[in-house]
Amino acid sequence: MKKHLLSACLLGALALAPTGRAACPEHFSPAAKALLADSIELEKNEHCLNVIYFLGNDNEPVAGYERRLSELLLYLQQFYGKEMARNGFGKRSFGLARRENGDVDILVIRGKRPAATYAYDGDFVHCLKEIGEYFEAHPEQKRSRHSFIIMPTFYNEQYNDGNPGGVPFFGYGVNCFALDYADFDISHLGQETHKGRLLTKWYGGFAHELGHGLNLPHNNGPASMNEALGTPLMNAGNYTFGFSPTYLTPASCNILDRSETFAVAGDKTNFYTSSVALPVAKQARSVYDGEKLTLTFRCEGPCVHVNAYMQEPPYVVNQDYDAVAFAGEMSEPAPDGSREIRFVIPRSELKSLHSDRQQLELLFVGPDGNRSRWKKEFLWSELEKNPEALGMPESFTPERAGY
Ligand code: ZN
Repeated sequence: MKKHLLSACLLGALALAPTGRAACPEHFSPAAKALLADSIELEKNEHCLNVIYFLGNDNEPVAGYERRLSELLLYLQQFYGKEMARNGFGKRSFGLARRENGDVDILVIRGKRPAATYAYDGDFVHCLKEIGEYFEAHPEQKRSRHSFIIMPTFYNEQYNDGNPGGVPFFGYGVNCFALDYADFDISHLGQETHKGRLLTKWYGGFAHELGHGLNLPHNNGPASMNEALGTPLMNAGNYTFGFSPTYLTPASCNILDRSETFAVAGDKTNFYTSSVALPVAKQARSVYDGEKLTLTFRCEGPCVHVNAYMQEPPYVVNQDYDAVAFAGEMSEPAPDGSREIRFVIPRSELKSLHSDRQQLELLFVGPDGNRSRWKKEFLWSELEKNPEALGMPESFTPERAGY
């Protein structure tokens, strides 16, 4: 395997045809060749995602995993890249290391315990610990801080290839978990068959959990955007991906813009450094005119994007799919580096929210990918009476968000 490691992200270049279009490896399936036919040439990456196939001490990979997962990952890389381009960030996606034959370079790591112990409701932390130990012993194989960990489905009285499951399947910080099974094959994409529906369930989940592992929170789109583009991947896109239109919101792309594996070759940013100071908002003002809420402030310190999320209670994790996301308009930096930021949030874009009580969350994205948050709960009924009732302080410092 070691001979492949030198390839890292650079081999992506070898996978390009002389025309500059991304070539599809010869051994890929006809379905993958058809789906990848309109591939765009993506920018080269400074860092690649660690794609890890994690096994227990008593199981083996599902047959054909290298081709199947390579096809699925490359199609997903194109989806993220096309959405970043559509949102004005260039043809950028998460980096994938490639092998000489064009497959994605998937790192197989074998755990110390039986596969059954690495269960969804078991102690998955042991899996992360053992992956951490592997990278400590093989630091040259760690490509970035982000890991996409894939495990074979359990095979027991409950789970099998026809009903895969049992293993961890969620995003957790910079790590995310997904699963593999015999028919996890892009040839079933979009088909109204059992295998087609099963593929959307697990491939949509694969795409969505990867979003979490690349720093994305849940979010919904403004009403008009959903009407035009479909379902945001980080909303219920895990149920629609491959079946009906699915997209990334501008707010999601703001975060990916400063996510480590999206950095283009030559970007030497030291990502997620905790020593970087927090941004400060000044001259903040909020006004509601009966139709739209307008927020303006000046941002000093490390900040390249700001998102606003409108949400109704409860605000806890995994009940935040409904948070309607807006990307702030940013001015060019002033000579002192500060920027003017403006949000216009029309009430008509919040059709999916019904409660009088709402929470506004502002998410600040730093140049090193660090995020910080500021939250304020309010009542629409109060805003109806007093346009400035949101009560935004004139100056505030957001709190550091974990990465
Ligand atoms: Zn999720």
